[in-house]
Amino acid sequence: MQIKHYLLPFLLILFYQNTAFAQKPLSDRLCGYTGKSPWLEWYQHHRHELAQERGVDTTWLYVPMTLHLVGTDQGTGHFKLEQALRAVCEMNEQFAEAHIRFYLLPGDPVRYHNNSSWYDHEFYPGGDEMINENHLDGRMNTFVVANPAGNCGYSWQDAIVLGTNCSTAGNTTWAHEAGHHLSLPHPFSGWEGFEWDYSEPAPEEIDDHLVEKTDSSNCYLAGDGFCDTRPDYLNYRWVCDANKESNVLQLDPNGVEFRSDATLIMGYALDECASRFSPEQIEAMRSNLYFEHAEYLQITEPLQDVPDDIAVELVSPIDSQNVQFNNITLTWNPVPGATLYNVEVGLAPGFSPKFYNQTLYNTTSVTISSGIPNNRVLKWRVRAFNEWDVCHTNTNVQTGIFKTKNLSATNDLEQIVVAELSPNPVAAGIPAILSVTSDEYMDAVLSVSDASGRLCVTREVRLTPGENRLDIATDGLSAGFYVVTMRNEKGALVKRLAVTE
Ligand SMILES: [Zn+2]
Repeated sequence: MQIKHYLLPFLLILFYQNTAFAQKPLSDRLCGYTGKSPWLEWYQHHRHELAQERGVDTTWLYVPMTLHLVGTDQGTGHFKLEQALRAVCEMNEQFAEAHIRFYLLPGDPVRYHNNSSWYDHEFYPGGDEMINENHLDGRMNTFVVANPAGNCGYSWQDAIVLGTNCSTAGNTTWAHEAGHHLSLPHPFSGWEGFEWDYSEPAPEEIDDHLVEKTDSSNCYLAGDGFCDTRPDYLNYRWVCDANKESNVLQLDPNGVEFRSDATLIMGYALDECASRFSPEQIEAMRSNLYFEHAEYLQITEPLQDVPDDIAVELVSPIDSQNVQFNNITLTWNPVPGATLYNVEVGLAPGFSPKFYNQTLYNTTSVTISSGIPNNRVLKWRVRAFNEWDVCHTNTNVQTGIFKTKNLSATNDLEQIVVAELSPNPVAAGIPAILSVTSDEYMDAVLSVSDASGRLCVTREVRLTPGENRLDIATDGLSAGFYVVTMRNEKGALVKRLAVTE
């Protein structure tokens, strides 16, 4: 027994020497991960000793994350925090069987970056630079970008990078890349990037990897090195059949037919087919956390949660008061322990359509200046949660009501329609467009007068609910200032228009 206790430190030294070999990113255009990490090679050689050392281990392992939401130089295109939290929430369901749970690092859950060369990048220089300039210790750094080097996502340099297109509800991309981060290879390891005619028996070796056989004779040495993941040679996204297997029949090196297992998250079956990690994969990920990512294991007990049935008390507006439609400040009372608040504004009675849905960090008020329609009765609500539990399905939710108006309007027409004139200035000969958003059907007279008050153009217009585009012809107008007026029995709306040569 005494000897065994010396075994672990020895193995650790072996491992730390191995980390000198960095993993290369090799783009397979799908996930961007190939082969096995040196750590996994070490682990798979010693898994039996390690298993004996540890015994049965079902303690929960808690992994902190910081989300890096990357947008363009102009500050646009960031993946919405709300969507990223949903992805973390779903990933936790996929990892529940492994007793691994992800949470956002308290105090540093999300960082926003504006950099177009990271937003849409290749591995070099964009991806490499993005990861190295922003890597934070002691957590799983999780980047979300528009284009991760042509892949759905990848795991590289101690970070995972996800594409927004592959991060929608029901995705397995996040769990797949987190699986790579915790050392798992693809079940089709060795076949990445290989073209193969699957009606032919597979070779004994491919790309210096042993090819896994159906008879389990080489399962610890071939493929992904796990025996409870069946042979799989499919290195492209594939559709599964009703049995959650591949439609494509493959032939192992002995000519035995088989179909791939679509339920494995680490394979390339479509999202709706995949849902699990195998027991051996789970054991490897847990060992990886103990050895290679021990700095993640900062807590051994759950952090304080915000109860799902706690209601957020709204402060204002709550009682159908009128608010300026493009300058609405929503305020609520803080909830003890809560740091994240999801705020929604939608049309009464059913919140549909929703005009605003944002998750905000460490604030109990927000001012909204665009995207909310004028002259409507709207509802709003807030859900409170924190970094520990980002799934917020609170059912006990207070609702506030307000009416949007244009409070600076001097007459009824201005109060109920919103108009914008563009381009302005406009070159003579190019039509200017008066874009009028109205809530109701109405008739009006549209006129254009010159600076001295002479009427140049006049016509009748019919507005319908929604946005109306009214063309104002500028042929025949000489350069100068004009006044565009829309008028009916409710009042008048006046815009100045500059016409250039
Ligand atoms: Zn992958």
